[in-house]
Parts: sequence; C-alpha cells; structure tokens
Amino acid sequence: MKDIIAKAVEGGWNFHKKFNIEDNAKITYSGNTTSWYGSNSGGLIYPESFIFSHDFCIVFWGREFVCKNCGRAREYEECSLHDLGRAEAWQYHGNLMFLSEDRIKYLEGFLE
Ligand SMILES: [Zn+2]
Repeated sequence: MKDIIAKAVEGGWNFHKKFNIEDNAKITYSGNTTSWYGSNSGGLIYPESFIFSHDFCIVFWGREFVCKNCGRAREYEECSLHDLGRAEAWQYHGNLMFLSEDRIKYLEGFLE
C-alpha cells in the first residue's frame, strides 16, 4: 500500500489533504491498511476509501488515451479491434481494477 500511495503522490495526489492528515503525522502501513497519528488526532485509512475515486485513478494511471479493447496507447501499438474506440488510461484501468478479484494486486501490477 505504501508504494501505491507513493506512486499517486508522485503524480501529484495530495494524500494528506484528502484525509485531513496533519503535516507532521506519523504514517504507518500494515497490510492494506494505512494508519496515521498526529498530535491531536489520527485515523485508519482503508484502500476502498480512495482507490475508486477519480482523483486517485487519474494520478495513478494518467489521462493518456488507450485502446478500449487492449489498453495499449494508440500511438505505439496496433490491434485488430482498435475500432472499439479509445478511453483515457485511468478510466480503462479503473474499470478493470473495479472488476478484479484482487484490486490491490491489480494496482501493484503498475508499480515499478
Ligand atoms: Zn487495441
């Protein structure tokens, strides 16, 4: 979970602001759960509370157009079903993640 969040933050996602986390809070990761402890408060964050949000998906996968059939960027690859049209990468992969049996695993597939 740490790496998934880090990738989104690298893309410009404001994780602290999203969950009202104090700037100096201590953040810990355990399994898929993220905890934070600030001077006045703290909280538990579950993946379901952000992985379906548009803001997260956009920074995680980007807005490049990809083929609706195969998910590859049009500019680089051709497939015989490109006629299905195109979608932005975050929409294409967000849908597949939603339908995945293991959504976290799907997200982890995009980490380097
Ligand atoms: Zn294609």
